[in-house]
Amino acid sequence: MGVSRRQFLKGGGLAAGALALNGKPALAGGADSPELRTKGLQTSTTICPYCAVGCGMIVHTRDGKIVNIEGDADHPINQGALCSKGSALFQVANNERRLTKVRYRAAGSDRWQEKPWDWALDRIAHLMKESRDRHFVATETRDGREYVVNRNEGMAFLGGAALDNEECYLWSKFSRAMGVAYLEHQARI
Ligand code: SF4
Repeated sequence: MGVSRRQFLKGGGLAAGALALNGKPALAGGADSPELRTKGLQTSTTICPYCAVGCGMIVHTRDGKIVNIEGDADHPINQGALCSKGSALFQVANNERRLTKVRYRAAGSDRWQEKPWDWALDRIAHLMKESRDRHFVATETRDGREYVVNRNEGMAFLGGAALDNEECYLWSKFSRAMGVAYLEHQARI
């Protein structure tokens, strides 16, 4: 007895559809179910570093490497949604063009040199100290009276949306300790 196309689809075809292409039974949650995609991965939460909206994100890692980033449905600000920029954050961590070593180009030079992190941190500290010493204003005279101002006019500090409360606190403290009066936030510039 021949089998019509309709009978084939109804009987064998639909049953075969329950099998994955590799011959294994189809999984209940579907091949792209979030639960399956992230099963066995380490989960941490973070805040998108791009803008002042501060959307919450979930980051999944395997052996220390980021394999997935998605919106955090439990976060009160974005409730799981991300804009296109936030959705592409994965590419910041996993990108062959990402610089992972310090590169330095001396003033007037046309080439970059690779430098150790300790060298870079020492140099930043040295230049900050030098700038502060050069531009520090201890007192200011106004209307014939001298005021103590202890102001560093040689540098500015810039905060960003990715900083959490504690980091903002430390950043402000550090800037004030340096005598910085120009303390701003990325969302205002
Ligand atoms: S996901 Fe988009 S809207 Fe949300 S903080 Fe990042 S850049 Fe801003």
